[in-house]
Amino acid sequence: MRKILTEVVIETTEIYVIKHQRHFIRTWCEDCGREVSLITPSEAALLTFQETAEIYSLMDERRVHFRLFAPEQTPFVCLTSLCLI
Ligand SMILES: [Zn+2]
Repeated sequence: MRKILTEVVIETTEIYVIKHQRHFIRTWCEDCGREVSLITPSEAALLTFQETAEIYSLMDERRVHFRLFAPEQTPFVCLTSLCLI
């Protein structure tokens, strides 16, 4: 009697979607010369898989556009300039 060996391969993929409140501002960017979305440095870090400190470094080096909003001088990063890095 012949033995038949059957191999079954099951591939699985898991996708995690983490949703949370996004904070962004639509406004004019003087450097881009157009209306853009501005996001917080922590949001920028999440989107680019970097540490927030790296986003602040990019801001210090003027490699991304950003604006400070009163009264707490909260920084917001230009999403368009962030995408060009
Ligand atoms: Zn810009």
